[in-house]
Amino acid sequence: TGTLMAGRRGLVMGVANDRSIAWGIARACAAQGAEIAFTYQGEALEKRVRPLAESVGSRLVLPCDVTDDPSVDAVFETLAAEWGSLDFLVHAIAWSDKDQLKGHYVDTTRENFLRTLDISCYSFTALCRRAAALMPNGGSLLTLTYLGAERVMPHYNVMGVAKAALEASVRYLAADLGGRGIRVNAISAGPIKTLAASGIGDFRYILKWNQYNSPLKRNVTIEEVGGAGVYLLSDLGAGVTGEVHHVDCGYHVVGMKAVDAPDI
Ligand code: NAD
Repeated sequence: TGTLMAGRRGLVMGVANDRSIAWGIARACAAQGAEIAFTYQGEALEKRVRPLAESVGSRLVLPCDVTDDPSVDAVFETLAAEWGSLDFLVHAIAWSDKDQLKGHYVDTTRENFLRTLDISCYSFTALCRRAAALMPNGGSLLTLTYLGAERVMPHYNVMGVAKAALEASVRYLAADLGGRGIRVNAISAGPIKTLAASGIGDFRYILKWNQYNSPLKRNVTIEEVGGAGVYLLSDLGAGVTGEVHHVDCGYHVVGMKAVDAPDI
């Protein structure tokens, strides 16, 4: 615990349960003194999110589906009324049809392509625009991405294309909002067993592969992603914007299977 984010107010979107990356970031920010508002997608998840939010002293727990503009507007109207301003935003939201997170990218349907890009990429831009309107004194905006944006990963398919677009939008948003003292960054997390990840084909194999072949010879935790989140969301990261920061036990630097990696 510390005071790196004392007096800061932030919105965290994308907590589904206590294994969510968003939860790792929220808890780390709360431990540094931040006050946090949470959103949840649908009543089923409210039951999970509300107790987690309360455990870090949050008063604001709001419904939001990013495909539904009125629900997004309602969140920011509440924040404007309750807080008046906002210091940071965490966007940890992605979706694609499970049936297309296996097999081949070439088979992606138009319908799933558009919905995947809408939820996993456009929503960040739509949220940044609304968050920035509540940041007269600057702020920090953060999203979550994966190495599948940069290189081909088995089964990641259209989600890799969406993450590539998301990473490009981080750079454009950083340029658009930098003059207002608003920073925009992404954390590229290594594979973590979450609800969303369980939809990806052969995810256990991916976890093992990263464990055996990353420089640190293990997988990353949501606590470690939370630590990097504090850095980017607090003044520690004051000079950093437009960045895609890898928190993946170093896996992104690796070119080939490690010579000592066991067979999986
Ligand atoms: P998670 O299942 O805990 O979180 C995904 C969240 O997205 C859920 O809370 C879900 O409610 C939300 N969501 C989906 N559609 C939505 C919609 N229409 N409106 C509002 N919310 C919606 O899984 P996670 O792994 O913590 O995912 C968080 C982010 O991290 C995602 O962007 C994911 O792509 C990214 N990421 C995950 C990994 C990994 O291995 N788990 C690695 C790198 C990046």
